[in-house]
Amino acid sequence: MKTIGLIGGMSWESTIPYYRTINETVKERLGGLHSARLLLYSVDFHEVEKLQRADDWNAAGVLLAQVAVALQAAGAGFLVLCTNTMHRVAPAIEAAVDIPLLHIADPMADEIRRLGFSRVGLIGTRFTMEHPFYRERLRQRQGIDVLLPAQADREIVDRVIYDELCLGQLRAASRAEYRRIIGRLVADGAQAVILGCTEISLLLAAEDADVPLFDSTRIHATSAAELALAGASGDGR
Ligand code: GLU
Repeated sequence: MKTIGLIGGMSWESTIPYYRTINETVKERLGGLHSARLLLYSVDFHEVEKLQRADDWNAAGVLLAQVAVALQAAGAGFLVLCTNTMHRVAPAIEAAVDIPLLHIADPMADEIRRLGFSRVGLIGTRFTMEHPFYRERLRQRQGIDVLLPAQADREIVDRVIYDELCLGQLRAASRAEYRRIIGRLVADGAQAVILGCTEISLLLAAEDADVPLFDSTRIHATSAAELALAGASGDGR
């Protein structure tokens, strides 16, 4: 089994389900008392968010590249960056290390295509929705078309992420707003919707929409466990 290097803490609320899902997947596959070999470097999200707000993506890239180097030195076989937004600096991370980064958009694109969808809505931070790094990767990898909420709704989605979900606050009023926004994406032609922010599945479940919801946390974490296990076999003990 390979050792997974998790770059977490963005926010820590969403790093917890990564840890759980990765371990559950390993247990399911290998049985018995098996669990994942992993290293977690959890950053101070305050520092990262400050750089996002200042639009200083270079400094954010340098910061996360240093984390990646530390995980590589500690023995990680590959890296998992536990946030959609910070994949905007994926190239800086990849350039700093020799081990691969399991890009969050890749298993997402593959899963959407596997289930036969090609036109999906996307909700996430304003950076993930508005900057091309995420949408373009889905399109290039699997030819997936991405629909976005209208500007005013993008602001609502973004505000709820930073002011509530990253602080562990789950509010019924915000859930209702998200349901409304997802309903609009569906009315606009979305066959499914990507929860393209790792905190959103803390608030929403499958029953909150009439179409499938693709949870970036679950899909990324499951795929990380599978990559760690590729070639491994369990003994059930
Ligand atoms: N966890 C979030 C994401 O998946 C947002 C927090 C961040 O800005 O990294 O995009």
